[in-house]
Amino acid sequence: MKNRISDPRGITPVAALVRGGTSFLICGHVRPDPDCIGSQLALARGLSRLGKRSELWLADPVPENCRFLPGSERIRTPSADGRAFDAAFVLDTPRPERLGVIADLVRGMPVTVNVDHHPSNTRWAAHNVVDPHAGATAELIHALLAELGVSTDRDIAVCLYAGLLTDTGRFCYSNTTPGIHRMAAELIEAGVKPEKIAENIYASARIQKIRLLARVLATLERDGALAWIRLTQAMYRESGASPEDAEGFVNYARDLEGIRVALLFEEGADGGSTRVSMRSRDARINVDRIAGRYGGGGHGAAAGAVVPGRMEDVERRVLDDVRNALGGA
Ligand code: AMP
Ligand code: MN
Ligand code: MN
Repeated sequence: MKNRISDPRGITPVAALVRGGTSFLICGHVRPDPDCIGSQLALARGLSRLGKRSELWLADPVPENCRFLPGSERIRTPSADGRAFDAAFVLDTPRPERLGVIADLVRGMPVTVNVDHHPSNTRWAAHNVVDPHAGATAELIHALLAELGVSTDRDIAVCLYAGLLTDTGRFCYSNTTPGIHRMAAELIEAGVKPEKIAENIYASARIQKIRLLARVLATLERDGALAWIRLTQAMYRESGASPEDAEGFVNYARDLEGIRVALLFEEGADGGSTRVSMRSRDARINVDRIAGRYGGGGHGAAAGAVVPGRMEDVERRVLDDVRNALGGA
């Protein structure tokens, strides 16, 4: 019972699991972002400093803007599981399906540890360190490493900082707490150069990305407090860009004055599904819940879903749904 009060996140038993084991698996979600990858790499390095082995798995390749993170070359996509691990960590991933093609392999592991900050997390693992008040999964990994007595070296600091920076929207969103800034300060003291990380993540765009952005911005529409943009497969072909280049595009619609909800509709490669990115600037409109109706999820202010159906049809349904939410709030 002591744990409930002094360890509300349930970190103590996970630290004990780490101390008792030698070999660990560390996984994260499809379309991985800097919080996912940075958290994986920081944990792997912490385990290595304790003399433990780890393997790093993701269903999708490491995006270009995360390849500067120390250790990212270790991440791979396995085709079969030939190894036994003392525990499998799954980071920043609210439901096991979000592991993508590695989901079945990971779910089959005897001991699973779910470390996440999504409010919709289903606490599906044997051990769950889930705190929706954490601004990033990196914050939870930082707490776990502290519990394990691992000091924050420069490489760990760089990886954790990347997660904090991006999940708080460059320290702009409402999840930017005093605790986040204190942690960022500690990471800078440990050797992070904020300008270098920002350059790698935000200022290393390929020209193809800018060409894609130009096409996407030309589709911008607005109806009162709702704004949306569209991305088609033809735009990818014309610009030579790839899906990871579209990361963050929805924010151009979000950042218009007077906007409460912004959407990006992206035509699926097969034409039979549509990815929707949702952003809310109004605390009364929870896009996690709206995305949930389409089989997706995320956070109250940033969520997504992959919806079966052609883009025009999905667009009509989702716009109606969001207009209703705006009308009721
Ligand atoms: P995005 O719009 O892709 O930047 O995603 C914003 C947030 O929603 C992130 O926290 C994602 O993890 C989450 N998210 C995006 N797409 C999905 C999906 N298909 N299912 C569940 N969560 C999603
Ligand atoms: Mn993430
Ligand atoms: Mn996250």
